[in-house]
Amino acid sequence: MTKRIVLLVAIFIVKLVVYQTVPFAKQGDNQLKRIRVNSKRIEQRILRLAEFGKNPQGGVDRVAFSESDIQGRKYIMSLMKEAGLKVRIDEAGNIIGQLAGSDPKLPPILFGSHIDSVPNGGNYDGALGVIGAIECTQVLRENGIMTRHPLEVVVFSDEEGGTVGSLVMTGELTAKALEIVSHSGKTIREGIRALGGNPDKLSNVVRVQGDIKAFIEIHIEQGNILDSKNIDIGVVEGIVGINWWDVTIEGFSNHAGTTPMNMRHDALLAAAHLIIAINRVVTGIPGRQVGTVGRIRAEPGAPNVISGEVVMSLELRDLSVEKINSLYERIQQEAKAIAEKTDTKISFTPIDVTSAPAPTDPRMRNIIAESSQELSLTSLFMPSGAGHDAQHMARISPTGMIFVPSVGGISHSPKEYTWPEDMANGANVLLHTILKIDRGALD
Ligand SMILES: [Zn+2]
Repeated sequence: MTKRIVLLVAIFIVKLVVYQTVPFAKQGDNQLKRIRVNSKRIEQRILRLAEFGKNPQGGVDRVAFSESDIQGRKYIMSLMKEAGLKVRIDEAGNIIGQLAGSDPKLPPILFGSHIDSVPNGGNYDGALGVIGAIECTQVLRENGIMTRHPLEVVVFSDEEGGTVGSLVMTGELTAKALEIVSHSGKTIREGIRALGGNPDKLSNVVRVQGDIKAFIEIHIEQGNILDSKNIDIGVVEGIVGINWWDVTIEGFSNHAGTTPMNMRHDALLAAAHLIIAINRVVTGIPGRQVGTVGRIRAEPGAPNVISGEVVMSLELRDLSVEKINSLYERIQQEAKAIAEKTDTKISFTPIDVTSAPAPTDPRMRNIIAESSQELSLTSLFMPSGAGHDAQHMARISPTGMIFVPSVGGISHSPKEYTWPEDMANGANVLLHTILKIDRGALD
């Protein structure tokens, strides 16, 4: 009996000594590694947010600046407060929820997305990035963890109408853009005011290099790569650049009955050759580049008249400007040969909607991939073919993006869906990416 007591006391003393000699940081690390988001809470909040602007199709009409956008934002602000964040609306109408860090001198880590939708949009685009971001801060507080860096959850205003909130933050929104009439019927200037911002003081919102430690956005993929390959996490390499051209093909309109086949200058026939050539050029080299002819107009447009003029669109997207340029050069060469063969003239006019590729920070990609691996999730490096607020933030801050699967690759549609487990996976990767950055992964 006595022996046993002695043994127990000895074990107790050994445990005490071991416990005290384990460095504090190490215990912290283990606690941090085990921390997970609350999947059920994310799902419930996504469904609750979907009530704002809910339409009979099962999706949402929550266009920026509309009453449902404003009510949805109120709901989001209530969640931020519940999570213990200090909430404010900046001059651009962005919602910012702050959680203090232990070192107020450090720049904040920003993460978030948007809650406005396209007309007849889905329940996950943007929403996941916001609900997931709030969840990360809430779970940190619930576990009594204070980061060194301040944390800021951001809900950007009017993403779908031209990434307004993030453009203001990077100082790039033009005065002209303020007068554009949005889907809500309000101009962007009026809309910003309706959200509680001040369009006359937008410069207050501008942040520059060094102001932000990092920006991270989780988003549904909106494509079918992750879902079809059964991969948990997309590590976004960047948001592709987009170039548009109008392609004009001049032929000669003539009688479709009396003009022999070998005497025609058929603009529509040349266009048909060119569309096929564009597809051949774009698919002829390895990579994820895409090229599209999405619009075509033939003049005069009658069954019994050979087409004298065709105007069609050309769009090229890729992560590399050089690749877009070289594809365009090859398409022009093909066009020259087609013009000769069909006795037509083909010219290209650039359209002013071009956006440059926005690569994410390679260090951020690695941190996201590493976090995924530590959570036993599969991941894939991939470009984003759609635009996001992150593409602007990448110009002023190390930026990373985390994709989760969209079922069937459907988005901007009421049929948009992402499994609760995938939402939680994305939020867990976000959480651990934030923690790694906070502990110096970028330093
Ligand atoms: Zn979005």
